[in-house]
Amino acid sequence: MTSRLMPEHLLARIRVVLSRPSHPGNIGAAARAMKTMGLSRLYLVNPLRFPDPEADVRATGAVDVLQQATVCATLDEALGGTIYAAAISARQRDLGPPPCHAREGIADLLTEAAKGEVALVFGNETVGLSNEEVQRCQAAVSIPTNPGFSSLNLGSAVQVLCYEARLAAYSGQRLPAQRGVTPSSSRAATLEEVEGFYGHLEETMITTGFHDPAKPKRLMPKLRRLFGRTRLEIDEVNILRGVLAALRDGSRRT
Ligand code: SAH
Repeated sequence: MTSRLMPEHLLARIRVVLSRPSHPGNIGAAARAMKTMGLSRLYLVNPLRFPDPEADVRATGAVDVLQQATVCATLDEALGGTIYAAAISARQRDLGPPPCHAREGIADLLTEAAKGEVALVFGNETVGLSNEEVQRCQAAVSIPTNPGFSSLNLGSAVQVLCYEARLAAYSGQRLPAQRGVTPSSSRAATLEEVEGFYGHLEETMITTGFHDPAKPKRLMPKLRRLFGRTRLEIDEVNILRGVLAALRDGSRRT
């Protein structure tokens, strides 16, 4: 069920995930960027240095966001319990979720935030997000920039996205109740539930001989992209997994 949430409650459902940040100063800047816009849930995946005095200095009045930050070993851990994640990346990927610009990406993110926990995933300062990390997400969001110089500082990128989130949350223009969304028949599936389905699907495709694990090529990324476009509900995941189980049992009988 979509419900009409207060803007501050929508913002409180957004996690800012920094994957492998190398500079503690940027972690502090991200915390400050978040707090100025009313966000508070910072997740750090394998930070090179954290906690660190440099992060505290750059956070200034937002040290509380740093103190409450969750440090994780993997991106999957940081996305645990979320129903939707947007990869924030300047680079267009050949494979991966459909690309969009920040304003549009934030509108979709807030629509999802009405149903559950969501995440904005930012990459490392030097190498950005890996293709695998981007494929974990359901949207690929870029900040429109000068094409000749498109890479923002990590803290600045966090600021832009948090600003857009605040504007959108308070504008009331695309809040779910006004968007004519059909009420869901069941709750949105969590990332773990969708990943469980992908694992089951891959295993079935291997057992049936449709998929050769030695030559995976583009099959799984393409299927992830397909299912990532439809916002899967838990009932739908269960139906799909039921079909896969029935196929396995059926092939055993013949
Ligand atoms: N050299 C890296 C850029 C890293 S900048 C690369 O090629 O990907 C650190 C992070 O800031 C990026 O991973 C991304 O999350 C964010 N970022 C910087 N500029 C951005 C832009 N124009 N659009 C979206 N995200 C951007």
